[in-house]
Amino acid sequence: MYIDLSFYRDLKDGYGAPGDFAQAYVIAHEVGHHVQNQIGIMEQVERARQDLDQVGANRLSVMQELQTDCLASVWAYNADRARDVLEQGDIKEGLDAASSIGDDRLQMEYQGKVTPDSFTHGSSAQRVSWFKTGLESGDITSCNTFEAMNQ
Ligand SMILES: [Zn+2]
Repeated sequence: MYIDLSFYRDLKDGYGAPGDFAQAYVIAHEVGHHVQNQIGIMEQVERARQDLDQVGANRLSVMQELQTDCLASVWAYNADRARDVLEQGDIKEGLDAASSIGDDRLQMEYQGKVTPDSFTHGSSAQRVSWFKTGLESGDITSCNTFEAMNQ
């Protein structure tokens, strides 16, 4: 796994989301992609993308990324249950981080406008919401973003 450490600096200084738990959330998100790869979700998404236009492919990407946010917080829930690792304020750090890297926030900051069809990771509200879902359930079966967002 590769993490560009300058992203941590950006998270702290640029996006106002400092803290060790915010950093752990970033790592857990990347591990979440590995889990998706292991259980075959990445392959399914790749295949489905081929039949879609750019907007549809982006929508699928958002579902995949939000699932990863959910998997990251399932990790946090279970790590805390097993080893009591969460400290006061950690949850807020994670939520602030999830919120600060939503596509709407980033687009507004860098482009001055928001284009939902071009989202690839989900809005701040969506990222916070799926982070909370995994944290409350601690169960990966609650992370079926594909079903939830295809209603
Ligand atoms: Zn991701």
